[in-house]
This record gives sequence, C-alpha cells and structure tokens, in this order.
Amino acid sequence: MAAGTRVWKCCRCDEELVPKKTVLSYLGHTVAHELLTCPKCGKVYVSKELAEGKMSEVEQLLEDK
Ligand SMILES: [Zn+2]
Repeated sequence: MAAGTRVWKCCRCDEELVPKKTVLSYLGHTVAHELLTCPKCGKVYVSKELAEGKMSEVEQLLEDK
C-alpha cells in the first residue's frame, strides 16, 4: 500500500471515484476543473481542501488565462 494514496469511493454506490473535467461558474466566468465524480450516480465529490480553498484556487486559474 503506497503511503499518501487514497482511494475515494462513493458513499452510496461504493464505486471508485474518477477524476472528471467539471465546469465551475465563478463570478460570471466558467472554469474547467478536475473533480472526483462517481461513474455510477454522477455525484461530484469536492475535497475539503478544494472546498476551503476554492475561491482562491479559481481566482488563480482565472489569472493564469
Ligand atoms: Zn455513486
């Protein structure tokens, strides 16, 4: 088992989550971001880190473009 590797599973389906490009809307801009999604029910899981740092992260993405 590799340290630091975590497998995320859907709490409903027990399916492994897969990264999927998801479009976020932020202040009238749309930003594509890779989020973990359940391949079965389509639920999008936002990591705690992303949820807490979401705005600054999106701002950085916007500034890059
Ligand atoms: Zn699911």
